[in-house]
Formats: sequence, structure tokens, C-alpha cells
Amino acid sequence: MSRVYNFSAGPAVLPEEVLKEAAEEMLDYRGCGMSVMEMSHRSKMFEEIIQGAEADLRDLLQIPDNYKVLFLQGGASQQFAMIPMNLMKNRVADYIVTGQWAKKAWQEAQKYGKANKIASSEDKTFSYIPDCSDLPISPDADYVYICENNTIYGTKFKELPNTKGKTLVADVSSCFLSEPVDVSKYGILYGGVQKNIGPAGMVISIIREDLITEEVLPGTPTMLTFKTHADADSLYNTPNSYCIYICGKVFQWLKKMGGLSAMKERNEQKAKLLYDFLDESSLFHGTVVPKDRSLMNVPFITGDTDLDAKFVKEAKEAGFENLKGHRSVGGMRASIYNAMPVEGVKALVDFMRTFEKENG
Ligand SMILES: *Cc1c(COP(=O)(O)O)cnc(C)c1O
Repeated sequence: MSRVYNFSAGPAVLPEEVLKEAAEEMLDYRGCGMSVMEMSHRSKMFEEIIQGAEADLRDLLQIPDNYKVLFLQGGASQQFAMIPMNLMKNRVADYIVTGQWAKKAWQEAQKYGKANKIASSEDKTFSYIPDCSDLPISPDADYVYICENNTIYGTKFKELPNTKGKTLVADVSSCFLSEPVDVSKYGILYGGVQKNIGPAGMVISIIREDLITEEVLPGTPTMLTFKTHADADSLYNTPNSYCIYICGKVFQWLKKMGGLSAMKERNEQKAKLLYDFLDESSLFHGTVVPKDRSLMNVPFITGDTDLDAKFVKEAKEAGFENLKGHRSVGGMRASIYNAMPVEGVKALVDFMRTFEKENG
């Protein structure tokens, strides 16, 4: 067996321990004679899995009791529609556009009402987070929307926007569980789990209870109504049961690692290794404003597209996978999520240093 260092933005690296445990339980989950993907989602066995996963997630994030945790399908992208359908009572929402994912969410919301772009960093290819301390928040806005960590561009909100009392909705796909957060500051925080938590195909949406109502936009499908899933504890229909099982294992792993404060420390250590090197390198450069740098997604370039391609190719041959930047921006990107070990980042920096000597 040979594992590579996988710097993919998503689906992404998972803790080896979790994969091994899942492999051991594949044919016979704890004596029940079948795998988790073969069992009824209404069984006692699965009930324990989903309830345990939720309890561990609540524990990790210190989720207040007046928030529901929903395990939903359709990925993060489905939330782009589900959020306006469920929250746009006045048919007005304010969007802060800091990257492709925020832009897609903003465009989707326009189908359902007036979606105002109240701030953007598109003027400088999304390389920074705009000042959000005093934005023109609409008086009748149903919510203010952000993408907290911009997976493609590698920026992160270090401070949440001043929403002037309006409900904050945040896509946290690529920073989910990377550090402690104060859930009570959000109306909804949600993320596709394939970035920092589990396999693809599921989104976890953490929603304050007063936002879960029957008053949704006319024509909203039953399956896209938060209340449907909240009332059924995410078991209205067959959920992504295997994904919930793996996520549950990752939550257990995170607790064993010391929880989110410990993860934050580890993530800061990893990011510092890489950013410090980028800051001193004569060949490689980071592409975003230093104060807005993400701890999870680190884009960088040499400034020469041929040399970028050579680097990606040679890195792959040396066992560093998926370092090519997003197709919309080019260059390189190292995603260094929770499950990427410190050794992986150290090895990457060493490899970059050698490449610099040979090609600088
Ligand atoms: C990957 C990503 C998405 C899209 O996720 P899907 O599950 O593929 O829909 C949305 N937002 C952010 C921030 C992402 O990183």
C-alpha cells in the first residue's frame, strides 16, 4: 500500500485512521453481518450512527440547543437555492461576493427575489476580503450571505461582517471544523462535507430554529424545505447513510485529536510553514493579501505558466497530488485540510525548495 500526499480541494484527504476503521468494518459492521451501506436507515444500528454523529458534532462545535443539525443531500450547491426558498420572506437578501462560490449563490438567489451584491472583491480577482464593517445592508433584507473561506482563491473572513442585526448565512464548506466558531453568531452555517469532513454528496446545515418554518416561497419542493428534514431528524427519506457514518468517524477522530482548538493550532502551524516559505521564496509567490489568507487553501504561482505546469508534473511524480490550481485561476493550490498531516506540508515545502534551486 502506498498513500500519496493529497492536496486536493475536494473531495479531499481523510484521516488514515478513519479509512482503516471503515475498511475493517466494511463486511461486518460490529457483528451485524453487513456493511453500513447495506443496512436500513430505519434500523437501530443506523439510528445509533446518525445520533452519535450529531451528538459529536454538537459537542465539537458547541452548538446551542436552539439550532438544528441537518444532514442533507445535493451538496453545498443545493443550499444556494434552498436558502432563499426558505428564508426570503421579504424577497430581499444581501450578498457579499468574494469568489466563485459566493457568486454562484448570489446568482441563484436572483431567481427568487432581489439579491443585492453589497460588496465584492472581484475587481482584484477575489484576492482579498472587502471591509465589511459598515456595508449598505438593506433595511428589509431577510439575511446577509457570505462564503467564509474561499476555496478557489484562498481567502478567509477573519472577522464576520457587521450585518447590522440581520441574520448571517455562511457557506463554511472549506473551513468547516478547522477552528472553533461561535455558532450563535450565525442564522445558518452550512458546508459540503467533501472538503474538510467526509466523502462527497452531503451538506451539513446548522440552522437556528426560528428560521425553520412552513412559510417558504410558493412552489418550494417538499425535499427543499428545511422543516421537512428538521421534523424528521434528517430521516425524511433515505439519507446518505454511508457518508453520515464516515463523517461520524471523523468527528470522533477530531475529538481524539483534542477538538477544534487543537485543530486550529495544528492548522496554523501547517499554514505558517507554507506561507513563510512563499514569503521568502525567490520563485514561488502567494496570490492573496496576507491578512486575508486562508488556513485551508493556499494558492501560489511562479509567474510563468510553463514553469507552473512543470512544477505540478514533477510534484505529482514525487507523490504530491492535486496541486494544480482551479481551472478558473491556474497556478497551484495546496489544500491543507484537517486531515493533512504536518509532515505532508513539510515534505511539500522541502520539495518546493529543491525545485526552486533547480529552476530559479
Ligand atoms: C466545493 C464548494 C462548494 C460546492 O460544493 P458541492 O458540494 O459540489 O455543491 C460550495 N461552496 C464552497 C465554499 C466550496 O468550497
